[in-house]
Amino acid sequence: MNETPKVNLLGMPRDEMEAYFVSLGEKPFRARQVMKWIYEAGVADFAQMTDIAKSLREKLIEQAEVRAPEVMLDKGSADGTHKWLLRMDEKNGIETVFIPDGERGTLCISSQVGCALDCTFCSTARQGFNRNLSAAEIIGQVWLANNQLGYQKGKRIITNIVFMGMGEPLANYANVVKALKVLMDDFGYGLSKRRVTVSTSGIVPAMHRLNEEIDFALAVSLHAPNDELRDILVPINRKYPISELMDACWAYVKKKPHRHIYVEYVMLDGVNDKDEHARQLAKLLGGLPCKVNLIPFNPFPGTPYRRSPLERINAFRDILVRKGLVTVTRRTRGDDIDAACGQLAGQVLDKSRRAARMAAHMTKVPTR
Ligand code: SAH
Repeated sequence: MNETPKVNLLGMPRDEMEAYFVSLGEKPFRARQVMKWIYEAGVADFAQMTDIAKSLREKLIEQAEVRAPEVMLDKGSADGTHKWLLRMDEKNGIETVFIPDGERGTLCISSQVGCALDCTFCSTARQGFNRNLSAAEIIGQVWLANNQLGYQKGKRIITNIVFMGMGEPLANYANVVKALKVLMDDFGYGLSKRRVTVSTSGIVPAMHRLNEEIDFALAVSLHAPNDELRDILVPINRKYPISELMDACWAYVKKKPHRHIYVEYVMLDGVNDKDEHARQLAKLLGGLPCKVNLIPFNPFPGTPYRRSPLERINAFRDILVRKGLVTVTRRTRGDDIDAACGQLAGQVLDKSRRAARMAAHMTKVPTR
């Protein structure tokens, strides 16, 4: 059969959806109605969108769809963390993680299958780069998680979104911008810009561009206070060294009042966690409105790195605090379900292959 593929409305920014409705011979405001059904009510079935004329519903059923990725695995952790393994297509899977913390519920989403950046302490880098996620696949993660977790006392359980799952969001620029628009649109998820964080390893030109295009919260994966060390840990540094990264950070904080940056710093035993590194870091960040997040390294099979001991992390933090930097140590969460930072997927495909092997094996076991 040679059917034209349906238009997936999930993840489509409002202006694009308005243009789509106009192309169907409809009024643009239909986009807002349909978006409310999709995002507020979590409805994918056009037949249920009862305030929309039947003729339009029929048109939509024929030509469009609201299609989220398929859930392969859905796992809860003892600490309330929740992880979903989602199938993107026959070959690709990604992970999405929900992290509750008091009133706040953060969903950590992926922007790519795998990653091209090769940061030496990250397990996603191990699997290499497969492909970019579409805006539908990015927003699909939020849609699925929101539908499952829902509301508590009239408020959404998911209050914050961070692009800290698999992939480098700024290497998938166009689709990430679309997703940001839907996340922050009043007819989408209506999240404030402070609650949507883009985390980047420092693709400097894309940082400047995004800063011009949209408002968002910025996290920078710094991990080293000098180029010599950062060249090794975050190899994109060879292309965009720390001085250029700092310029992009300053451009971001200066664009609007009261802005600050989250600086991410993974604590690697004996590698980047010495007093000297803390002093260099304080000097580098001196004056920049920022909050430093120290992330205890999460080991994965085959990694040469170890997590810094807690006393070392505390001593490092104390130096930064004495130099006037707001510094917090990130708690590791979801360890028991491999949902912690840097532990995401790479396992997805292995797991499914392992599952296939096991299934093949099982059929050989004689049943009585
Ligand atoms: N590519 C983006 C977003 C994905 S990584 C970026 O680099 O920011 C999200 C965060 O997890 C980053 O700060 C990353 O450096 C950190 N991370 C990656 N691997 C980790 C590991 N094994 N242990 C702890 N943190 C890790």
